[in-house]
Amino acid sequence: MTERLYFHDAYQTRFFAQVLQSGVMDGCPAVVLDQTCFYPTSGGQMHDTGWLNGIAVHDVKHQDGEIWHLLSLPLQNGTVEGKIDWQRRFDFMQQHTAFHILAGCFNELFKISTLASHLGEEVSTIEIDVKDLTEEILQRVEARANQVVWENRAVNAFFVTPEQANDRVVRKKIVLNEPVRLVEIAGLDLDPCGGTHVAGTAQVGVIKILAAERIRGHWRLTFVAGRRGWREFCRESQIIKTLSDTLTTGSDQLKGQIEKMISENKEMRKALQRHSRAQADQAMAGLCEHAAQQGVVAHLFEYLGMEDLRRIAVSASKKQPGIYLLAAKGDQGYLVFANSKDPFDLRPVLKAVLPMINGRGGGEASLVQGGGPAQEMLKQALERAAQLVSQGKEPSAES
Ligand SMILES: [Zn+2]
Repeated sequence: MTERLYFHDAYQTRFFAQVLQSGVMDGCPAVVLDQTCFYPTSGGQMHDTGWLNGIAVHDVKHQDGEIWHLLSLPLQNGTVEGKIDWQRRFDFMQQHTAFHILAGCFNELFKISTLASHLGEEVSTIEIDVKDLTEEILQRVEARANQVVWENRAVNAFFVTPEQANDRVVRKKIVLNEPVRLVEIAGLDLDPCGGTHVAGTAQVGVIKILAAERIRGHWRLTFVAGRRGWREFCRESQIIKTLSDTLTTGSDQLKGQIEKMISENKEMRKALQRHSRAQADQAMAGLCEHAAQQGVVAHLFEYLGMEDLRRIAVSASKKQPGIYLLAAKGDQGYLVFANSKDPFDLRPVLKAVLPMINGRGGGEASLVQGGGPAQEMLKQALERAAQLVSQGKEPSAES
């Protein structure tokens, strides 16, 4: 059985060990050592990485009571020197301790218990047993958690008997027959845990809850701590700076400025729509005249909503029998084809040209409509539709 050095000192990064077993795991050379600093993925915390005699350890797994180090190359038996990737380890120590602090604060302030946790490589999550979670609860817990960080409370890990553990920990009943490792954040949290933690809460740096989502009747929170918290702050500051520079306004005026732009944009779109509608109505006479002469008319409007386009197509075809192939640029590219002359099925025509605008649509033989994002292809789609109609034959369509 491997001696787990990280149980006693989470800050130890180098060690010497003897290879006890060699094998292959997940297609990689793998070894079991008599002692190790490498933490295997378990208890919601991810594994360490590092090196054994300079050979990369890319995964560490706990299997059948043994800790297997998965290697990039085979390792010779005998004494090996191990070194863990300290930056990765310390990052997980920060996230893991932040988890205990959050769990402790939810319990202390609101008697909300913790159901699960996962410490990922980008963000971590904590699931809490509460039905109704308010913004106020989140803000108070986050503020309290950071207060605990700044108080630099001691974080201690120690082994006790299962009886002693059950006497002290009220949150979970322990059913093991072996010594239990407890992790204590002074005056806040006491929990059975086999993970790695910082020695004092100040090393967590900062704790920030990023998101909350309801799952299966309780809540899951996403959080970052330590270096990740600082990185998140930098990322968001950069976004705000870019927005401020683009809109040439101070960060505290951004919200008002963006709301004003959205409202102005809405008004402009309405005005544009009114203008386009009036123009389209004027264009209708020309469309009918063209249809009277040619039988088929194709026209692309610069800006028009689907409803207006459809209205024009239906009115024009009622007024003057013909085939009307209309398109418009709007929120996306729109196509409406109407036929009030010969029994000619427009559905295969639409089906043939919709892929040109990455569109979807359908309808009946005499009236079809569709829309798609590739507005720059509307003109070509319309030309192709006109070609298909003038050929007077339906394109072979799979359906
Ligand atoms: Zn822990």
